[in-house]
Amino acid sequence: MSAVETKEFQTEIRQLLDLVINSLYTDREIFLRELISNANDAMEKMRHLQFTGENLADVPLEINITTDDEAHTLTITDNGIGMTREELVQNLGTIAHSGSKEFLKHLSATRGDQDDLKLIGQFGVGFYAAFMVADKVTLTSRSYQPGAAAHVWISDGKGSYTIEDGEGAQGTKIVLHLKEDAYDYGQPDTIRRIIRQYSSFVPYPINLNGEKVNTIQALWTKNKSEISEEEYTEFYKFIANAYDEPLFRLHFSSDAPLNINALLYVPKENMERFGFGRMEIGVNLYCKKVLIQEQAKEILPDWLRFVRGVVDSEEFPLNISRETMQDSALVAKLNKVVTSRFLRFLNEQAKNEPDKYKEFWQNFNMFLKEGAANDFTHRQELTKLLRFESSKTTADELISLADYVARMPEGQTGIYYANGPTREAIEAGPYLEAFRDKDYEVLYTHEAIDDYVLSQLGEFEGKRLISADQTDLNLGEGEEADAAGLDAAEVKEFSAWLKEVLGSKVTEVRASKRLVDSPAILLSPYGTYSMQRMMQLMNRDLNQTAPGILEINAKHQLIKRLSELHQQGEDFAQVAAEQLYENAQIAAGIMVDPRNMVGRLNEILARALG
Ligand code: ADP
Ligand code: MG
Repeated sequence: MSAVETKEFQTEIRQLLDLVINSLYTDREIFLRELISNANDAMEKMRHLQFTGENLADVPLEINITTDDEAHTLTITDNGIGMTREELVQNLGTIAHSGSKEFLKHLSATRGDQDDLKLIGQFGVGFYAAFMVADKVTLTSRSYQPGAAAHVWISDGKGSYTIEDGEGAQGTKIVLHLKEDAYDYGQPDTIRRIIRQYSSFVPYPINLNGEKVNTIQALWTKNKSEISEEEYTEFYKFIANAYDEPLFRLHFSSDAPLNINALLYVPKENMERFGFGRMEIGVNLYCKKVLIQEQAKEILPDWLRFVRGVVDSEEFPLNISRETMQDSALVAKLNKVVTSRFLRFLNEQAKNEPDKYKEFWQNFNMFLKEGAANDFTHRQELTKLLRFESSKTTADELISLADYVARMPEGQTGIYYANGPTREAIEAGPYLEAFRDKDYEVLYTHEAIDDYVLSQLGEFEGKRLISADQTDLNLGEGEEADAAGLDAAEVKEFSAWLKEVLGSKVTEVRASKRLVDSPAILLSPYGTYSMQRMMQLMNRDLNQTAPGILEINAKHQLIKRLSELHQQGEDFAQVAAEQLYENAQIAAGIMVDPRNMVGRLNEILARALG
């Protein structure tokens, strides 16, 4: 065989090289990830051969990397399957026949056993990334096959390469002669950092100048039964940069509709609650244990940004760019599958470990609400995860919408909720009275987003979600006014007078069908106060004190007395009417100017005390 043979790269390769060197990767340092990934593949194939008993020596597989800052070289050596001369030409000179694909074909033809070969897939342009940092690559390879000789492949990545006979052990050794502007890759510190960043979970030892760099294994690809609790926790701490233990952990793999290995964690604490600012997505995307993207924004919806962990899918090309990630249908599909699986997991946890779920809910409910309000795709699944206090729970008990519906009495058609800063505040107000009277359960909400979510949902299991302070609330037949109350004519006259006293502060005064113990109630001109609060949240200059509808309780003694006072032409009736109105405002959670009120209350006190 001739000493040195020069060969042209296939046209496609030349174009590819041009692309790789000039524009494909914005981040040059990932060349190392590609080369380590190839070494990993070659060793994975070797391990498979060792397994399937080709009578090969059981040598420990490892990657050795050495730096030479004086010669400005970086050398990457593996003892994987190596390449024959023909394979060098085929794998590194043409693109049509990816070595991995060839290997897979060969094995499936001889054994038909593809299960263990999951690691072999299409990796894209991998090897050629070396030319981003090197102006010359010298690759020596010797195939594992008995009697195979070593060959040296050399190229400057421009248009051709040479092949000649050489000396070398089984496997592949790649020497990168670094470009002047890439000398930094001859520094051990730089290389150590890159290995840690991209290849920490490569399952074989990676030694840098003789020292092992990677310590943590790709836990997510192992069998659950092979992983200890400590390992799971260690991995969480590593991946989340955390010091605590995780609250929840989900380790799953699936083959359809996508091949996925995922290990996801929920931390104990929600840092956003402590004012640490908005969290970043904390899940990394891997392909066959090689990092494709750290904190990959596209694999989970933004409202799952508290989740930490790893998603590994064989379906991705290694060289996928951030831009392609954003509009890839594959990524969107992965996002949907992983999100659904995670929500299903939370649902299971809620059933099996209610106390733990409660802890989770207390810390992370804002994220699920954010999702339920905005993410139409997962709204249904999210709705099941919502939890509430209610008029029928104890102070620290929480129920789901399904729990609520399951115990609705006959005749009740809607699901009701009332908003207030605390349980006590809600229960002290007039808005619950009608429900108490009917023995209907009312969910308690404490934040404006709760009401926003519930109004966005609109209904649950066919039952409308209705705010308890809804202006046109109709709970069916109210009781007839009893003898003690005002009659219809009196109500009409009294209401007209009240409207006159209050003027533009109210749009209407009318008799209420919903009140039992309170004399009056204020209803929002926007349908509900919860809606009004929501609108205020989004549109700050919305008028807080827009005139509302005042409803009076015609059966209430206070109303009857006030009506009498007014009939008698007493001036004090007007003072009392104004206070009645402001009391209703306070119950509605509206800020009232205290300066006027104090004077008025003193006047009322003086009169009461005689
Ligand atoms: P891919 O990894 O997607 O196949 P690459 O461009 O990274 O594409 O590599 C091309 C081929 O070259 C590989 O499929 C493999 O057959 C061969 N190859 C590259 N590096 C090595 C190596 N270290 N050992 C053995 N074969 C290798
Ligand atoms: Mg590759």
